[in-house]
Amino acid sequence: MGRKNQSKRGKREEPEALDLDRVRMGIRTTVMKGSISFTKQSHSGASAEEGKKWTCPFCNGTFGEGVAHVVAWETELGPSIRRHFHTMCFSRWQGRIN
Ligand SMILES: [Zn+2]
Repeated sequence: MGRKNQSKRGKREEPEALDLDRVRMGIRTTVMKGSISFTKQSHSGASAEEGKKWTCPFCNGTFGEGVAHVVAWETELGPSIRRHFHTMCFSRWQGRIN
């Protein structure tokens, strides 16, 4: 019995549309810590970059994709200077993000 060698056509795997949109829809809130206003936004942990790792500035721990966390920045300085924190760590964070 001859087995037909079925040629597998490479199925097209399109990378999921960048998850940034989803990330942007994270809940954004403003938090005052001392006299500094921070904007924090929840982050689903989805990343367009495979193997992405973030370092939490509070505990110096690293975490990767799939870990829900928060992104925060000083409201005045804007999101171009932002940090990724463990959710709990951000609530304990005191200091500047810059
Ligand atoms: Zn942390």
